[in-house]
Amino acid sequence: MKAARRSAHLSATIAALLAGAMSAHAAPTDPRGGEPAFRALYKELVETDSSWPDGSCTLAAERMGAHLKAAGYPAADVQVLVDPAHPKEGSLTAILRGSDAKLPAVLLLARIDVVAAKRSDWTRDPFTLVEENGYFYGRGTSDDKAMAAAFTDAMVRFRQEGYKPKRTVKLALTCGEETEKALNGVSWLLKNHPETLQAGWALNEGGGGSLDEAGKPVSQGVQAGEKVYQDFTFTATAPGGHSSRQAPHVNAIGWMAEALARVNAYDFPVDLTPAARAYFGASAPLYPNTRAAMAAIGSGKATAADYATVSAANPSWNATLRTTCIPTMISGGHATNAQPQSVTANVNCRIIPGESVESIQTMLAAVAGNPKVTVALADPPQPKSSAPPLTPQIMAPIEALSKEMWPGVPIIPRLSTGATDGRFTNAAGIPTYGVSGLFSDPDGQGVHGLNERIRVTSLMDGRAFLYRLVKAYTG
Ligand SMILES: [Zn+2]
Repeated sequence: MKAARRSAHLSATIAALLAGAMSAHAAPTDPRGGEPAFRALYKELVETDSSWPDGSCTLAAERMGAHLKAAGYPAADVQVLVDPAHPKEGSLTAILRGSDAKLPAVLLLARIDVVAAKRSDWTRDPFTLVEENGYFYGRGTSDDKAMAAAFTDAMVRFRQEGYKPKRTVKLALTCGEETEKALNGVSWLLKNHPETLQAGWALNEGGGGSLDEAGKPVSQGVQAGEKVYQDFTFTATAPGGHSSRQAPHVNAIGWMAEALARVNAYDFPVDLTPAARAYFGASAPLYPNTRAAMAAIGSGKATAADYATVSAANPSWNATLRTTCIPTMISGGHATNAQPQSVTANVNCRIIPGESVESIQTMLAAVAGNPKVTVALADPPQPKSSAPPLTPQIMAPIEALSKEMWPGVPIIPRLSTGATDGRFTNAAGIPTYGVSGLFSDPDGQGVHGLNERIRVTSLMDGRAFLYRLVKAYTG
């Protein structure tokens, strides 16, 4: 009896141990498994100040790299890469090799630098992760350490569970996106270690879901392509002289005013990217007043009147349809009683991906319409990129997962009128998609501003979504 009881107890213990071992083995394949470890990793990342110039991306990269090595990645597959001239602006790169070397890799791209935050301005310490009323607060909780932590955690779990992808998975956590003053990690890696980023496509920030005021999901955004930023300098010069002696129609300010007025009145031609077309098609039902015109754009059958309706209804829609160039600064003249000798103006363009900076320059000079007003590039051009295609290979897994996790929530592709590091990867021939499954409140969640936050449920959902999406792409 005693012996029998002991053996029953023993076999129960063995069964429990086995179950424990099995669940320890099986747990990481649960997309929501290992949450305590993820929370610790996320906390460590948020609490590592990586703002410029006081913080250190290199330290954040080293800390995330330590998680990967602890999970079993060989040291050679986890690298912290640092330009010696920018010791605090390092990046982390890692690789999980696929079984089919012929398949192009998927790159998981996220940033670990954040916008600076002043303790005295914030309600809570920006570099302490605080969980309160269903939110995580802290600098970078949303932009972009949520994604960086979710990607790193996915890589950790893939290794721990012995996941053998067909397609190689690459991870790059980079620095220098938020400030022009810092070294841009993506641009630097492409020049110095291109193999770390080379991939068939990349997942990046720039997408994500929208919530309404009550926290209900409204739409799931997928970013495909970004407009290209370019400033042009307009210059008009004239002989000048006493303001009492005017030669007819010889005045640099007058010439500049006429040229800028023509630029202001000019609409660049509609240039519909795949993402823009998909955006208008998918959004049409949400906007009753412009539904017909938006649906026409989505179906590829829009008339000039449809484009005019949509452009007039919303500046962002206008910017989604075409390159835009607007005068933003002007300076000229040297005395109230003198004819101006020179006037310069800045014209800021946001160019549809695929259009060349040179073609826009030529167009601006033609619109300015006066050879006395010259048009020059204010800065060296950004690399030219094309808009990434929305292929079924990219979209089908996003659609399937989204349907399961957020039933009835529409997927809305879009062309971004702003910029992320995707401008470099797209230009390097790596089609880059903004997709995260992270849903945000309508007020912007304090990104770049005060008391940045993210819903805890949004972060956990996004983490599960990204883990599953990467597996869907690579399994
Ligand atoms: Zn940002």
